[in-house]
Amino acid sequence: MTPPTHDESSGNALGARLNWLRAAVLGANDGIVSTAGLVVGVAGATEDRSALLTAGLAGLLAGSLSMAAGEYVSVSTQRDSERAALSEEKRQLREEPEAELEELVGMLTERGLSRAVAREAAEQLTRRDALRAHASVELGIDPDELTNPWHAAWASFLAFTAGALLPLLAMVLPPEGWRLAVTVGCVLAAMVMTGWSSARLGAAPPGPAVLRNVTGGALAMAVTYATGTLLDAAGA
Ligand SMILES: [Zn+2]
Repeated sequence: MTPPTHDESSGNALGARLNWLRAAVLGANDGIVSTAGLVVGVAGATEDRSALLTAGLAGLLAGSLSMAAGEYVSVSTQRDSERAALSEEKRQLREEPEAELEELVGMLTERGLSRAVAREAAEQLTRRDALRAHASVELGIDPDELTNPWHAAWASFLAFTAGALLPLLAMVLPPEGWRLAVTVGCVLAAMVMTGWSSARLGAAPPGPAVLRNVTGGALAMAVTYATGTLLDAAGA
């Protein structure tokens, strides 16, 4: 699950929320596909419910913990580099305020303001909160809203777990003989929904996203099922 980027301007809380939502959908999608691949693969070899449950649960935990750990590491690193950039900016503002003001004027001009308006805006922003102005215009971050690595880790964990529960339950709840069909059906339906919503949340056309997502999920299940069947036939 990728953390929301700081591309959105600091005032764009809706954009940030959509990024989070999209990351959650993609995290759930990961949970669905990887756990579906796992339980369908095991189902290729055995119909035994406790084997399926064990494999699915282990896959759920392994996946959600590894996603959470990865997210924790990546967001911590991102936060460290944002903090380093902020303290460098602080140092520059202290040591060379004139050059920093010029820099801000330059960046505002690049964004389309006329020279005179840019200068006026830069002076006002600097008087009000110079660091915040540079953080926002130059670095694209809000110094008060650096992403918390624990929040990101929890969000990944929960999103992956929510997704993984679908194929796990679809595999172990139905009676023998129905498990595979129910799981494949549920997973493909979920692929349609997650593909559609992630495209909508990213303002992309949903058709191709749904097609790619369903194809990806179907491939994952086909490959692991074939592998499970072959291993079973080979007496492994
Ligand atoms: Zn600066």
